[in-house]
Amino acid sequence: MTNTYDAIVVGGGHNGLTAAAYLARAGLHTVVLERREIVGGACVTEEIAPGVRASTTSYIASMLRPEVIRDLRLADHGLRMVACEPGLQGVFEDGSVIPWWTDHERTVAEWSRISETDAATFDRVDRRLKHLARYLQGFFLEEPPDVHARGWAKLRETRRLLKRFRTIRGDEITDLASFLTGSLGEFLDRTFESEHIKRMYLANNVYGMHSPPYRPGTAIGLLFHLLSGGDHDAQGFFGHVIGGMGSITQAMASAARRFGAEIRVEAPVARIIVEDGDARGVVLATGEELRAPTILSNADPKRTFLELVEASDVPEDFRAAIQAIKMAGPCAKVNLALSEEPHWTGMPADADPNRRSLATLVPTLGAAERMYDVAKWGEIPEELWVDCVVASNVDPTLAPEGTHVMTCFVQYVPYALHGSTWDEERDRLGKNVIDTIGRYAPNVPGSVTAMDVLTPLDLERTYGLTEGNIFHGDLNIEQLFFMRPVPGWANFATPIRGLYLCGAGVHPGGGVTGAPGYAASHKVLRDLKKR
Ligand SMILES: Cc1cc2nc3c(=O)[nH]c(=O)nc-3n(C[C@H](O)[C@H](O)[C@H](O)COP(=O)(O)OP(=O)(O)OC[C@H]3O[C@@H](n4cnc5c(N)ncnc54)[C@H](O)[C@@H]3O)c2cc1C
Repeated sequence: MTNTYDAIVVGGGHNGLTAAAYLARAGLHTVVLERREIVGGACVTEEIAPGVRASTTSYIASMLRPEVIRDLRLADHGLRMVACEPGLQGVFEDGSVIPWWTDHERTVAEWSRISETDAATFDRVDRRLKHLARYLQGFFLEEPPDVHARGWAKLRETRRLLKRFRTIRGDEITDLASFLTGSLGEFLDRTFESEHIKRMYLANNVYGMHSPPYRPGTAIGLLFHLLSGGDHDAQGFFGHVIGGMGSITQAMASAARRFGAEIRVEAPVARIIVEDGDARGVVLATGEELRAPTILSNADPKRTFLELVEASDVPEDFRAAIQAIKMAGPCAKVNLALSEEPHWTGMPADADPNRRSLATLVPTLGAAERMYDVAKWGEIPEELWVDCVVASNVDPTLAPEGTHVMTCFVQYVPYALHGSTWDEERDRLGKNVIDTIGRYAPNVPGSVTAMDVLTPLDLERTYGLTEGNIFHGDLNIEQLFFMRPVPGWANFATPIRGLYLCGAGVHPGGGVTGAPGYAASHKVLRDLKKR
């Protein structure tokens, strides 16, 4: 049987759904094909024990674009977010619990109790970083600058860049250069005196990155995390999603359907059909064939070009560049059902449930560097960096009354283990995470009623994330802007005519933003108009 569409989207992650919704809204007969039994990719809510639902993979909504929320009317489709307050909270081994409030002045006041000097520095640095991040913000929903453009196109690109940077001052250019190329660790060491405050910055700025804090290029996280998001386009927004992160993708799927898109689950694509250099359709694992002149792949670049198309369908150097994309881990996730709420040592007695929902067990910069080194050689670090969110404190619908669900993101574990396998080490990782948390919240180990451990291998197997990489390719400067996914192909199009990438592997990168899906679908619509 042959089914014909205007556009086929391979993968129903949040970017695939976003792209499909925009294409369907523009009148294109569009189908989304998702391999799993649910849509959402790495943005889902799943049951981990009877009646206990968790955001099994991504867990905080921070940079979801307001344009996407508005255009797709996600609120009408059930999306509701509650701002995290504080946005981040460090819980330390000495019993101190330090919040980073979303209100700038409140954080200055809070941190002045730790160090007057650092609080004054934070006041200055945070404003400066937010200002700088705004220069990059404009590129978030559009194509990155095309450095290969020629003729009139080159002139147009130069004008676009000049427009974005026309007000930039010399000292801001030097700042930008140093944040884009410098290391987070060195920046923090020369800027702050308190170890705790440096750790607060570390807590937020290298998550998911394949780099230790003293590696050049890691300071870019400081700007990336100040790009705006949420209904009100706030810089540095962090939100709990009611019903878990899956509510975002359920709302997107519902919006896409409302615009006329068809969504099929349990429909793994085995191959993209390419004829004479043109994408023509897909073949499902069942052998069923679907035809369309436009295909968008929400699968990561490696999966798309190394598994779904024939090697001979793309130039050799392009394929080699895709093969060289740095991915390999470096994170895991442990989701826990708990019979009671964690009692964090040092948490103020008057902390409200929203505040009690966040606890980042962040190491020192030196310890983080050592953890990365251990993981780099294929070992699981003994000391773990764990980011805990007790979402049921804000959203009681996630667990039966009186019980809780806690998600734990683990930074710096290898994808490839040396001398062992993740199938052998999965339980040990889960136990290490629980033991680690027990040192900060002694009641947790005794209250775990169910545990769901997602190693990098599970992220690959279950969620289709090649090498377990949560961003479809590391977010380092070599793989960002006009270098993403590979130099020369940063505008969502690919060497196969009619085949586009629309997932986190393309500009502007990973995270639940909707930005790649938005930008790729708009590129497709522009190209179709030209044709
Ligand atoms: C453990 C973890 C924690 C994270 N935490 C956060 C967080 O708190 N906040 C945040 O903003 N981001 C977070 N992220 C990152 C974020 O979730 C991802 O970058 C983002 O969801 C990627 O979205 P996507 O739509 O581009 O791709 P995906 O979500 O990866 O979707 C791709 C889809 O394509 C499907 N697919 C692949 N191949 C095929 C095929 N052959 N046929 C059919 N379907 C196919 C997959 O099954 C999947 O559904 C986290 C990610 C992970 C894994």
